[in-house]
Amino acid sequence: MNEMTEMLRATLGELDFDPAMLKARYLQERDKRLRGDGNEQYLEIKGDFSNYVEDPYVEQSERAPVFDEVEIAIIGGGFGGLMMGGRLREAGYSDIRVIEQGGDFGGTWYWNRYPGAMCDVESYCYLPMLEELNYLPKHKYSFAPEIMEHSKNIARHYKLYDNALLQTTVTAMIWDEADAKWVIETNRGDRMKARFVAMANGPLNRPKLPGIPGIESFKGHTFHTSRWDYAYTGGDSNGNLHKLADKKVGIIGTGATAVQCIPHLGAAAAQLYVFQRTPSSIDIRNNRETDPAWAKSLEPGWQSRRMENFNILVSGGDQDEDLVADGWTDIFRNLTGIAAKTASRKLGRRLTESEKMVLMEMADYKKMNTVRARAQTIVANEETAEKLKPWYRQFCKRPCFHDEYLPTFNRPNVELIDTAGRGVERVTETGVVVNGREIALDCLIFATGFEVGTAYTRRAGYDLVGRGGKTLSQKWENGLRTLHGLQTNGFPNCFFLGFTQSAVTVNVPQSLNEQARHVTYILEQVKARDATTVEATLAGETGWVAEMRSKARMGEEFRLECTPGYYNNEGKSGNPNGFFSFAYGAGPLRFFEILKEWRASGTLDGCAIQ
Ligand code: NDP
Repeated sequence: MNEMTEMLRATLGELDFDPAMLKARYLQERDKRLRGDGNEQYLEIKGDFSNYVEDPYVEQSERAPVFDEVEIAIIGGGFGGLMMGGRLREAGYSDIRVIEQGGDFGGTWYWNRYPGAMCDVESYCYLPMLEELNYLPKHKYSFAPEIMEHSKNIARHYKLYDNALLQTTVTAMIWDEADAKWVIETNRGDRMKARFVAMANGPLNRPKLPGIPGIESFKGHTFHTSRWDYAYTGGDSNGNLHKLADKKVGIIGTGATAVQCIPHLGAAAAQLYVFQRTPSSIDIRNNRETDPAWAKSLEPGWQSRRMENFNILVSGGDQDEDLVADGWTDIFRNLTGIAAKTASRKLGRRLTESEKMVLMEMADYKKMNTVRARAQTIVANEETAEKLKPWYRQFCKRPCFHDEYLPTFNRPNVELIDTAGRGVERVTETGVVVNGREIALDCLIFATGFEVGTAYTRRAGYDLVGRGGKTLSQKWENGLRTLHGLQTNGFPNCFFLGFTQSAVTVNVPQSLNEQARHVTYILEQVKARDATTVEATLAGETGWVAEMRSKARMGEEFRLECTPGYYNNEGKSGNPNGFFSFAYGAGPLRFFEILKEWRASGTLDGCAIQ
């Protein structure tokens, strides 16, 4: 233990906290939140709740159904679909069709237009294809309208509007064995064929509601943050929600979305009640405008270099320089293998595995102490500040970064209604009940997130029928089975982009870009061999499943000690669809290398081309 103490002192300095006390507090807070129903606590938005997912941003347009054929159909016009389309166009493919449920391109940035919506990953890394489009974002962290505009520009640049079907929801996808093509049906009565399909439907695409008793009985105005009702609130994504000036507004949820819109609600509503179950960790944002001198200094290839540098740092790797230098890289530098490497350098010896674990745990307590101290410093009311403090390890929940969220609780018209981990008790016709107190509301907003941990096909909204009539839900009943996350046996010519046994990265577009390049390579190989189908072999998929298992990250122990949320499958173990069961445990760097090595070998190992 003495050596351990020495190591900690040498690396973190004198510890001014009691780790045992903190650990006990974390477990106590987790226990308050654990509930038997786990993921089942949420309502699937369908039937009587369907109005929560209607598109408030466009009028439904009429068009005749389509019964034609394309070479490649891309399902989803978000970043995944845009990059897939863009890379295919670069490779010379012309017969492409994007099918998108929304009225335009943009995906998550099409739907999430709530006031204050922005991306908290640095824009110069996050916005795809900046060099291709010769564009530089206005701020270090972009606001949603700019990201959506950039999405539309990518679609224009690569002519993805040509032949696209917007406001169109896929309802069925069936493999036609005789024709070796996919038959795609939609809610518009379309029935088209496609030789290849790329599924780019996004990981957090289906809004969810909490199954709070009485939720259906509320007679006031209500909506989900991903379908913001500006007709009711007034204003736009920049705020100015002037129609709320005489309204009592309640918002359920305090995750990354709520953190961004609450400052605008607080500024506009006559009275705002924030219903909290678990506080988020709110670190410094420090957004700023793009420096024109820096912009001028950028040399060709700058974006991939920056993305690479960021990705290495947020994957626990070392870099001489931290180009992004923000809250994300700071957390990863201090709480991952980089911290252990730094400690080794300081001590002049390698750390043992248990030393590494202890170092990271202590560094985590230290970091979260600063986050809690920030709430204490900013929020004037002591009781409120106390309730806003997160008591869990940093990666139990998605870290948030914001400079206006905490000060909002200093407004006289804003009240934090903490539910001590239990959530809202009941919804009535006129308001919400918490701790026996009924709070009357004109408007109730759900910032309750998106489905995670439910079956892939439920989130897609339809099943895929592959060879021999086998459905994808049957195939993945006991968990995903893929080759590199992209293909699955029995479903030829179909590619899955996103989090399906693939790399989960802070900078999601980078991963989508790697996937888009890889799929393009495979299609080029099919073309070069004059073949019609490409499919993961059973051996290929078994090999990848074994590789996924052997590298399973984030030990069960860490996960189960966390306060519940979608990162840990609401505190329950063993869900084959759990968020981290999608992620390749050796990390994105290794994952991208594997794809690169596979392409370089040219053997298409694990893939059958016919
Ligand atoms: P989350 O799932 O993160 O948050 C949902 C919130 O609803 C949580 O605070 C949850 O509490 C709360 N909640 C659920 N049920 C109840 C209940 N019965 N009573 C009270 N509260 C309840 O959804 P978000 O939309 O905030 O974020 C989803 C993801 O989207 C993020 O994790 C992030 O990955 C992404 N995002 C990214 C942004 C960016 O800047 N890049 C911005 C916004 C979102 P509890 O924590 O206790 O479960």
